[in-house]
Amino acid sequence: MIHFLSKTSRRALGSTVLLRLDFNAEDIWRLEASLPTIEWLIRRGLRVVIVSHRGRPAGVRIKNGLPHGRDAKKLSLRSDAETLARLIRRPIIFVPHFRFKDIKRSVAAAKRGTIFLLENLRFLPGEERNDVALARQLAALADSYVNDAFAVSHRADASIVAITKRLPSFAGLEMEKEIRHLTRLIRRPKHPLVLIVGGAKAHDKLGILKYFRTRAKCFLVGGGSANTLLMLRGIDVGSSLVDRAAADQPMFRAASRFPHLILPVDWRANARGRILDIGSKTGKIFAREIARAKTILWSGPMGYIEDPRYAKGNLVVARAIAKNRRAFSVTGGGETVSFLKRHKLDGKFSFISTGGGAMLDYLAGEKLPGIAALKK
Ligand code: ADP
Ligand code: MG
Repeated sequence: MIHFLSKTSRRALGSTVLLRLDFNAEDIWRLEASLPTIEWLIRRGLRVVIVSHRGRPAGVRIKNGLPHGRDAKKLSLRSDAETLARLIRRPIIFVPHFRFKDIKRSVAAAKRGTIFLLENLRFLPGEERNDVALARQLAALADSYVNDAFAVSHRADASIVAITKRLPSFAGLEMEKEIRHLTRLIRRPKHPLVLIVGGAKAHDKLGILKYFRTRAKCFLVGGGSANTLLMLRGIDVGSSLVDRAAADQPMFRAASRFPHLILPVDWRANARGRILDIGSKTGKIFAREIARAKTILWSGPMGYIEDPRYAKGNLVVARAIAKNRRAFSVTGGGETVSFLKRHKLDGKFSFISTGGGAMLDYLAGEKLPGIAALKK
């Protein structure tokens, strides 16, 4: 059973909470998603020690507790402390070092409601190794642990998994939302269910193709995933983006023959024949299927959306989903969510997951180590 923060009494949390968040996005929407949990904790007079990560730092050395090296500046969380302080309208104490004894002393001496943010945990080699010693150092700072970082919960990291063996552990408010909405999608979806798949990394989407094979009415495929499937069907896609790793997978080869697979019938290509967007006929076919759906899951853009000339197909799909008000619609993944925010369509979806890879794993019926670790 997962203990949800929303159902937890203040007393069960002690006086200081270690809060794992995910700031690993260019835009601030992941930070925004974590605000309700921070507010919830502060309003109850708890001290909050936030831990998070950014990127995949390389060559960072720790000297006297301080990170050194090029990535140490580039991937620092210092600017996130400022952004978060602005969003939540409260001061945030940023801790630039990993001298855990000193940190513990400052936290213990702080007033109730004080918020700390530690430096990028991935600067420490123990984080991604799920190191018990690091978990122990983190645990010493607090009385309880809250995971509100769904987007990294598919990783067995020290601040996601090992920590739960050392402190009473709870799922934060955003994590709870993720679990409730995504569970609804896999357990009791209303039919017809339409799955829309795009993006560059087709191999990331193998899990959902497999899981929804018998559950979806149809798969609408665009982007690099469609190029790869068209290629498997023997169509010449020239130098278009394809995912060779996925093309070698038996599951993907099978998917290219699914009877309910709907591939582009036309496309927008550049002068060199690179397919960069679905065409207008395809857009209409996709929109018609989307209009009839009662459940919609969308992962990965329909084209090279960074160039507005090739973002048309993506916009058609996004608008069709926005227009279908009776469907339960879910999406996630960095590029897709940023796109929806830019076009102010995000509010029209039933749920936007903060997870990219984590959402895909969850929806493929896989166990996420970070969520499994919360089950006690
Ligand atoms: P997401 O993170 O949204 O799930 P991916 O990371 O798999 O999606 O892929 C996103 C990227 O795929 C985008 O940056 C987009 O430019 C690229 N992309 C999609 N279709 C094409 C295409 N036909 N040609 C080139 N790039 C594409
Ligand atoms: Mg991506």
